[in-house]
Amino acid sequence: MLELRNLQGGYGEIQVLFDVSLTVGLGEVVALLGRNGMGKTTTVRTIMGLLPPRGGTLVFDGDSLAGQPPFAIARRGLGLVPEGRQVFPTLDVRENLIATARPGDWTMERVFALFPRLAERRHHLGRQLSGGEQQMLAIGRALMTNPRLLILDEATEGLAPLIRAEIWTCLAELKRAGMAILVIDKMLDEMGHLADRHVIMEKGVTVWSGTDATLTHAVRERYLHL
Ligand code: ATP
Repeated sequence: MLELRNLQGGYGEIQVLFDVSLTVGLGEVVALLGRNGMGKTTTVRTIMGLLPPRGGTLVFDGDSLAGQPPFAIARRGLGLVPEGRQVFPTLDVRENLIATARPGDWTMERVFALFPRLAERRHHLGRQLSGGEQQMLAIGRALMTNPRLLILDEATEGLAPLIRAEIWTCLAELKRAGMAILVIDKMLDEMGHLADRHVIMEKGVTVWSGTDATLTHAVRERYLHL
């Protein structure tokens, strides 16, 4: 579905991505791992058209995404839950959800069924929500675009354990419903069971990929310093 092959990219004169290769298949959940500053967010921004690729290939459903603007990429079926959530602070929950809505199976009612807590808070402004509620809203907002691939940059960063558990349960539900997911998160042990495959980045290069079972202590120590 999504294929990055030897992708290069960066900011202005600064090259950050040197050789990024990964794939996400239909209904597959892939975790993108790496220590701080290794280029995970830069990879996501490049996929979403927020940064131009400078080399290599970036293909979704057989078509190149290179040079396409973010709105066109989103319209093709890539939904982003950005780092830092970035909900609209002065819009209420309903308005946040409506803002990105596109026709499809995902409606506001379905998002509210997935996150009953959002339904209770439907008239609260984005800025009045807790961090966990904002993350639920960010996920709901991405789902309202009716994506075929959901990308989460730091799925549970800064959230309390109980809220993290809710987010993982929700992602497992989405996986069961057939959603393909590319997820970045530091909570490796919590995310492990969800991910079909892990891909590790080091200094702008994808250096390892494998299943949760093959992500051994030695691999974690070598690439993630865990
Ligand atoms: P983290 O886990 O800390 O979010 P990351 O793996 O997502 O890390 P990136 O945010 O992609 O890493 O950063 C990769 C490199 O790009 C870092 O060296 C960072 O300093 C650099 N970088 C990030 N944003 C910019 C920018 N706007 N301009 C220049 N360099 C940047």
